[in-house]
Amino acid sequence: MGKDANTRAVVLGGSLGGLFAARVLADAYDEVVVVDRDLLVGVSEPRRGCPQGRHISGLLTRGQRAVESMYPGITAELFADGVPDGDLAGTVRWYARGRRLKQQNADMLCVGASRPMLEYHVRNRTQALGNVTFLERHDILGLTTSPDRSKVTGVRVQNQLGEGVEETLDADLVVDASGRGSRTPVWLEDLGYPRVKEERKKIGLGYVTQHYRLRTDPFDGDLSINGIAWAKNPRGVIFSRTDGTRVEMTVYGVLGDHPPTDQAGLYEFVKSLGIPEIYDAVIQAEPLDEPVAFRFPTTLRRRYEDMDRFPDGLLVVGDAVTTFNPIYAGGMTVAALSALTIREHLHSGAAPVPLDYFKDLARNVIDPPWAVTNAADLSFPGVEGDRPLSLKVEQTIMALVQTAASKDSRVTAGYMRVAGQVEHPSTLMKPKYVLRVALALLGLSKHTAIPFRGQNVQPAAEPTRVPTA
Ligand SMILES: Cc1cc2nc3c(=O)[nH]c(=O)nc-3n(C[C@H](O)[C@H](O)[C@H](O)COP(=O)(O)OP(=O)(O)OC[C@H]3O[C@@H](n4cnc5c(N)ncnc54)[C@H](O)[C@@H]3O)c2cc1C
Repeated sequence: MGKDANTRAVVLGGSLGGLFAARVLADAYDEVVVVDRDLLVGVSEPRRGCPQGRHISGLLTRGQRAVESMYPGITAELFADGVPDGDLAGTVRWYARGRRLKQQNADMLCVGASRPMLEYHVRNRTQALGNVTFLERHDILGLTTSPDRSKVTGVRVQNQLGEGVEETLDADLVVDASGRGSRTPVWLEDLGYPRVKEERKKIGLGYVTQHYRLRTDPFDGDLSINGIAWAKNPRGVIFSRTDGTRVEMTVYGVLGDHPPTDQAGLYEFVKSLGIPEIYDAVIQAEPLDEPVAFRFPTTLRRRYEDMDRFPDGLLVVGDAVTTFNPIYAGGMTVAALSALTIREHLHSGAAPVPLDYFKDLARNVIDPPWAVTNAADLSFPGVEGDRPLSLKVEQTIMALVQTAASKDSRVTAGYMRVAGQVEHPSTLMKPKYVLRVALALLGLSKHTAIPFRGQNVQPAAEPTRVPTA
């Protein structure tokens, strides 16, 4: 970075957000050090610092393309490792508003990897870069700065296995990828910067996940069977084939209507979803583990882009900036796009200007899915928040789209291209699409659905810019 001495970037957190950041930083810095409290290298099981690893983690198509662009060939490696594939509109069987949606291939590749499997492959590829090292079993304590506190110069860490001695890692750039519990807001305040504004929405989400070996086949060639929670039944399910020839089921309920973790109670919850093929398969299946719960009380967005001062040498990515409601499966995609945004800001040949990066990230990466998922969260009457007329219009459009998608597979395809973040949400308002929705609702669609049967589709190349309206 224009210096004679070796340059070093330090990434705080070695989950997917940190790995993606390390991947792009490795092209610009001589050395990248990833710090995490967990053991990481070689780990292919759920780990303590990533409790979501015990639950379904769907990678949206936009995220898959971003990951493939950073790690060419990784999608094929995952398939070779036993990960099933599919198409978000073609072989994911969706139920919305109590109706089954028509299916049609939409060139929306789905990678049915469990979370630990995906992270394992991404970590291996990151480690193979040669200039990325992992400082495992280290707690991140805080930042070091220049005397005037205008620049972050490193990070203080502590080895969990040693005598508790604090060490300092000098860095030309520190990237905070430590997730929702990120301490950056507090560290900044301690350094004399204003507190970053935070937005939270109480959704009271509860997940329960269990894995099975099926004795029957409810999939009929599909990858997954998913029921979307809605106001009349605030319960949902993702029931998916995954690596290891297992089936992973996550059921969820919002606003405190949480699935139970006892086996009989869980079966009753599944029955209440109104998707008989899942219930029938599950009660006959062999459970491979105990049901595991996860509570997700609020979404959270930290508005770094609105700060008027921010120290040089520090960026924040992934869940440390925004934790989305996980039922919409956007977090890993946004983490990957955060890394691609850093890459664009590194192209100037100097360290990124933090506030420029945050503004770009907010506008091009976070805003579109944040708006869509907020509108969906607010469709539950018990979720608190402003509901201006524009939001009610959006919610009505989404309800009409979902109903029309139960009649015309091309409507499903358009809807899933938005849900998969490949298209901007505004494409649902394009005249051709609106006409298609209207015809479907009036029963005038002449289209016949062509179900897609996945065969390890080649991933499309990923442009570095995110789609715009
Ligand atoms: C229940 C659940 C389900 C989800 N489902 C999906 C899904 O279907 N699709 C999707 O795209 N996204 C999903 N997500 C979100 C997704 O997991 C994250 O967006 C993704 O992991 C990127 O997060 P991250 O790397 O920024 O942070 P995290 O994954 O939270 O990782 C933070 C890392 O920092 C380390 N760390 C934190 N603090 C310290 C410290 N003080 N010292 C040392 N190390 C530290 C942790 O050990 C961890 O490895 C889900 C999230 C949850 C909670």
